[in-house]
Amino acid sequence: MSRLSGKLVIATHNAGKLKEIAALLAPFGVECISAGDLGLPEPEETGTTFAENALLKARAAAEAAQLPALADDSGLCVAALQGRPGVYTADWAERQWFEGEAGRDWYMAMGKVEGLLCEQGAGVDRSAHFACVLALAWPDGSSAVYEGRVEGSLTWPPRGTLGFGYDPVFEPNGGTLTFAELDPAEKHRISHRANAFAKLVAEQFSS
Ligand code: IMP
Repeated sequence: MSRLSGKLVIATHNAGKLKEIAALLAPFGVECISAGDLGLPEPEETGTTFAENALLKARAAAEAAQLPALADDSGLCVAALQGRPGVYTADWAERQWFEGEAGRDWYMAMGKVEGLLCEQGAGVDRSAHFACVLALAWPDGSSAVYEGRVEGSLTWPPRGTLGFGYDPVFEPNGGTLTFAELDPAEKHRISHRANAFAKLVAEQFSS
């Protein structure tokens, strides 16, 4: 399996994601460039799994830039809803008049999940996990996939003002605070993204 070094395209048009990933990979001598800065088109996320979506984004960027590329896909999977919203996590938050993550109605999306749980009665299983899949693709067609998870349960009403997305209703196992109440450093230490990155780093950079 190829080992990462030199330039790496981060297949995202989201500046926040690029910054976070660049900081995580800087200690390993990897120079991150975003697909947005290279003017690469954003492929449609037509996959039905996190891995399919992450791979299609990474492969498209690697082929277009002729450089190794990294992409991620993530979402919330609720046990009693057979893993939904899953790859459709962002879609459950309707777009507002402006584009992007900030333009979505997260309160409505959290309410939709809660409404579906309530339909199943008071004793419903409230367990859920966040999943993050990182896909690496090289111009020669090879690829690698790393999946991270954080297990927890859903609470209602939402609590906390930190974080984003579904953080205010997600209580990671082992504590009583939601992701939106936790110190961001602590969230980043235990999150699904941290878990996936640890696996990538172990395979790509350990000697
Ligand atoms: P994507 O991987 O950028 O497509 O994001 C999928 C969606 O999953 C996001 O829009 C968020 O709503 C949700 N999501 C992913 N990670 C987190 C998290 O750490 N906290 C809250 N929501 C998350």
